Order: sequence, then structure tokens, then C-alpha cells
Amino acid sequence: MTQHDLVVIGAGPGGYVAAIRAAQLGMNVACVEQEPDLGGTCLRVGCIPSKALLESSELYARATHDFGKLGIRIGELSLELDTLLQAKNRTVGTLTSGVAALLKKNKVRRYVGHGHFDEQGGITVESTDGPRQLAAKNIIIATGSQPAQLAGVVCDGRRIGTSTDALAYEQVPDHLVVIGAGYIGLELGTVWRRLGAKVTVLEYLDRILPGMDSELARDAYKIFCSQGMSFRLSCRVTGANASDSECHVHIEDGDSIACDRILVAVGRVPNTEGLGLDFAGVNTDGRGFVSVNRQLETTAQGIYAIGDVVGGAMLAHKAEEEGIACVEHMNGQHGHVNYDAIPGVVYTQPEVASVGKSEDQLKSEPVNYRKGTFPFLANGRARTIGQVEGYVKILADAETDRILGVHILGPHAGDLIAEAAVAIEFGASSEDLARCCHAHPTLAEAIKEASLDVANRAIHF
Ligand code: NAD
Repeated sequence: MTQHDLVVIGAGPGGYVAAIRAAQLGMNVACVEQEPDLGGTCLRVGCIPSKALLESSELYARATHDFGKLGIRIGELSLELDTLLQAKNRTVGTLTSGVAALLKKNKVRRYVGHGHFDEQGGITVESTDGPRQLAAKNIIIATGSQPAQLAGVVCDGRRIGTSTDALAYEQVPDHLVVIGAGYIGLELGTVWRRLGAKVTVLEYLDRILPGMDSELARDAYKIFCSQGMSFRLSCRVTGANASDSECHVHIEDGDSIACDRILVAVGRVPNTEGLGLDFAGVNTDGRGFVSVNRQLETTAQGIYAIGDVVGGAMLAHKAEEEGIACVEHMNGQHGHVNYDAIPGVVYTQPEVASVGKSEDQLKSEPVNYRKGTFPFLANGRARTIGQVEGYVKILADAETDRILGVHILGPHAGDLIAEAAVAIEFGASSEDLARCCHAHPTLAEAIKEASLDVANRAIHF
């Protein structure tokens, strides 16, 4: 039996980051991963490939619709989907091998195979050379999540599939029906719409992007409609069937929609099956997430869990923060995660980004707040790049002026939100942000102006 100070099960952004931090702190670390490539869902079949496709499809859309307006003539434009998908695969390959190099550099021992708790209280790795037993003083469960299934809709990996399938359609669908108007549905729907598909998004709720600030979601919805994406809100999908040539989605009201591809994007569920949690005394909650305390320790001493498998925001960067915090805690340090300062970004065009409390949350709490907004159409840089849709909204405590939430719909919102996350982490007031000098001309000036607007003193609007 091989002995380690720490065994991490899962090499996604939570697991591999935890392993590296533990190695930095002098631990003898092993990382068990069943996939041949490291990086988890995020790198292999999530954030990274989807962002690669969003980038190339946006360039294609801009070349088709915008370049002529700028006097840039490029003759007849055509799409080579194969090449575009290969470029995405190369990006993924470079990053996953980068993670392998990082683990090697930090002397993290890697085991390839499915890892699970065994009856002896250790971990068994089911590798191709047979089972291998590991013992560890500490264990981190970082096994992530997988797409949730929808009753009546069986993913066949051909016409009906998940986000993984939608990263590699070998042809642009004529009509793609997306079930779920969350992060995945909107991002991948956007990719295929730009590449030429008709896209219809079916959403159970009466709004898109549940959980995000509803004003922002409503305005994003109007923009996505104007871009040509069709939506049916308050629409519950009850089933789907597929033949060789087409498929149908069935809706609760009796209607059915014909299409040639269906993407099921109705959330994700934790990966706990086959882990042998019972052998280790690790409890899960009613929804199947591993239960943890504030230090991310499970109901079994010395066994921790981080990332999607513990619930909360299913975001790579939240998993990373949890990985670092729990390893530091194991080593007598004081790592912690501020769940009020975790940004969320939807990488559509414009992007949608939020950190802190939404206005809906503040309305439901006994707190008085002030609101400042600033539209990108009044921002010089947004004008120069021809992307003027959207705005910055800052919510600050009416008594203390402390920033409680920042919400951005607009170009590069996902990068801009970093400043807001820092402000919230440091307990900044809107006046603090307003008094910081922002370079001109930059999109970030919209944040300064929205901060000024909290006190009704925006200059440019
Ligand atoms: P989601 O929870 O964001 O959205 C799922 C949507 O499906 C919801 O709006 C829900 O109301 C709807 N839905 C559920 N059942 C339905 C039904 N029967 N008919 C119609 N609609 C139905 O989930 P997702 O988009 O699948 O993403 C999964 C997770 O992955 C999210 O938690 C997200 O945080 C993460 N993710 C993040 C990013 C990013 O950071 N940019 C990108 C992709 C995924």
C-alpha cells in the first residue's frame, strides 16, 4: 500500500489546484484521475472548449456582419467547421498537458484510474494494471459533476445530447433546440446560432439565467432575441424522440417542435456514484451533494470535499478557492472562501457578469441600498469597438456606501467584473471606486462612472 499525506480524487480545477497548493506546503501528494487528460470538465469538455468556440464563432459573425461596415472587405467568407473544431481541440490539448506539467513540476504523484473508498478505509484506484491501494492522512473528494438528465429525454449522443456533444457537432444544425436558458444553453446556443443554425431555447421559468440579477437577465434576453435567438419561456419540456433524420421535443401544453439537434442543458448533478462514500462515513445531503462544514471537511475526519460535488455555485474558480482553503486549513493555516465575492460570467456577446448580491436579493432583505448605473453607449472605448449594448450597475449600502453587488451586461464584462470582486473583497465603498483613477479610454471607466452615479454625480451621462 502506498502512503501519502494527501490523496486528491479528481483532477479538475478544484482537485489539481488543491494538489499543487498542498505540494507547495510540503505535503506528499497524489492525485487520482480516471480520464487520461487532466483538467476535469472545465478544461476537457466545459469552460475552455466552449470559450474557444465562442471566440471563433464571434469572429465569424463579426466578419460576416460587421467588417464591411468598417471598410474591411474580405471577399467570400466560408466556414470550415472541421478546422474550427480542431483549433478548439488544440487549445484543450495544450492546456490539459500544461496541467500534467504543473503536477510533475510540483512532484504530485499521478494515478490514472477510477478512485474510490474501500472497506479498509483507504482508497483503491481501479487502473488498467489492476487495483492499487493507497493510504492517506488526508483525502479530498473533488469529483465534480455531470449533466443532469431530464425525464422523458434520453440523450443518445447523436441527435439528443449534452453540452459535451454540442462542443463537437460535425455539421452546423439547421435547427437546434436547447432545453434550459442557463449558462450552458445560452453560451452553446450562441455558438451555433452564429455559425448559422436556427436556435430555439426552451426554458421552464418565465425568465432566463435564474439566480442572476433579474434586471440584467431581462435586458440580456432582449438583446439575445434581437440577435435572432428564439425563446419560449414558461415552457416545460416533457419528452423528446429522435429518428435517423430528425427529432421532436414535446412540451407540456401538447405542442411539439421538430428540429435536427437537441441540447439538454438543465443543470448538473454531483459525481458521487461509485465512490464508496458509505465505507468512509461521508454523508450526502438530500440532493446528493457531499455535506461539508465551513472548513470543507466532510462528516468523516480528514476527508474533505470541494467544488461542484459540494454544491453552491458550480464554477471552476469557486472550486479552486475551496481547494486552496481546505489544504491551508489542513496545514494549520487560515484559508477561507468569501462566497459573497465569487463572480459569475456568461460568455455571450455582450457578456453577463455578476458579483455579490443581486438587486432582487437586496429587495428581499432588510437593507437600504443605493443604485448607480452607467450605459456603455456613453463610454468612449465601447464606441470605438462598436459594442455599446448594456451597462454597469452598482448596488451600495445606503448608510455605509459599502458595495454589496455589481452587475455588468456589456463587452468584456467577464474581465471587468474582477475589479468589482476585489472591491467587495476589500470592503470598498462606491466612493472608493469612484475616486480610483481609471485609464482612458477603457471599458473600465463605465465602472467608475456607475460608482459616481451611486451619488448622482456621473460625469458622462
Ligand atoms: P443552469 O442551472 O445554469 O440552467 C439550467 C436551466 O434549465 C434553468 O434555467 C432551468 O430552469 C432550466 N430547466 C430545468 N428543467 C427544465 C425543463 N424541463 N424544461 C425547460 N427548462 C428547464 O444549468 P446549466 O446551464 O446546465 O449549467 C450547469 C452548471 O454549469 C451551472 O451551475 C453553471 O454555473 C455551470 N457553467 C458555468 C459556465 C460559466 O461559468 N460561464 C458555463 C457553463 C456552465
